[in-house]
Amino acid sequence: MNRSVIVAANWKMNGNLALIKEMTSALANVSLSSNTCVVVCPSFPYLSAFAQARVDKALDKKIMLGSQNASEHQQGAFTGEVSNSMLQEFGVNYVILGHSERRSINKETSTLVAHKVRSVLDAGMTPILCIGESEQERETGQTNVVLAAQLQPVIDEIGIEKFADVVIAYEPVWAIGTGKTASPELAQETHQYIRQFIADINQPIAEKLSILYGGSVNAANCQQLFAQSDIDGGLIGGASLKVDEFTKICSTV
Ligand code: PEP
Repeated sequence: MNRSVIVAANWKMNGNLALIKEMTSALANVSLSSNTCVVVCPSFPYLSAFAQARVDKALDKKIMLGSQNASEHQQGAFTGEVSNSMLQEFGVNYVILGHSERRSINKETSTLVAHKVRSVLDAGMTPILCIGESEQERETGQTNVVLAAQLQPVIDEIGIEKFADVVIAYEPVWAIGTGKTASPELAQETHQYIRQFIADINQPIAEKLSILYGGSVNAANCQQLFAQSDIDGGLIGGASLKVDEFTKICSTV
C-alpha cells in the first residue's frame, strides 16, 4: 500500500500577507517524511502571494498550493466565482470541495459538489472532497447513511476509477471549529467505513485512497489520530493559522 499522507491547511476567511511570510519561513525549516505532502489553502486573493513565497523560499516541491473552492463552470457571467483554469494558472494543485461550511452556508448540494469534483479533475488538479455528518445525524445513527449519500453522487458523476486522483476528507460537522475532536477510535471506525464503501466497488482504488481527518485537530491530538491505520493525514482549520501548531502537526506525520 502506498497511500500518500497529506496535511492540508484550510485558512478559511483568515490570514494575510504577514501570515504567508511567517508560515513559509517556518515551513522551510520543517523536515517532512518522504511520502508526506503539505498543502496550504489560503483565500483566493492570497494564492498568488503564497505561490511566490513558495518559490522565493525554494518550497515549491515541498508545499503544495490549494484553493478552498472553485466554480463548476469554466467561464462566463458568474460574478464573484473563480474557475479551475484560473486556479491552475496560479499554480494551484488541490481544491477543497464540499466543505460543510459551503454545504450549510452556501447550500451546496452533493450533486453540485460532484460536478465541481469533475471540473477540478478535468483541469488536472486534485479535489479534496469533504464529507461528514452533523451531531444529530451521529446521535440518531445516521452517520454511514449520510456519508454514503455524500459519496454516491460523486461516484456516479466521475466513475470509481477517477477516485485514484481524489482525496477524501472526513470531517464530522460537530468537530469543526468546536474543539470537540472525534476520538481516534471513532475516527478510525468511520474512515474504515468510508474505505470499505469504496472497496466494495473497487478494492485497489480503496487501498490507495488517502482519507484525511478534519475537526479540531491540533498539535496535541494529531499524533494519535494520524497513528490510525485508515487515517492518512488531516485537514486542519484553526490550528493551521498558528505557525507553531501547524509546523508541529506537519512534523508529527
Ligand atoms: C475545517 O474547517 O476544515 C476544520 C477542520 O476546522 P477546525 O480544524 O478548526 O475544526
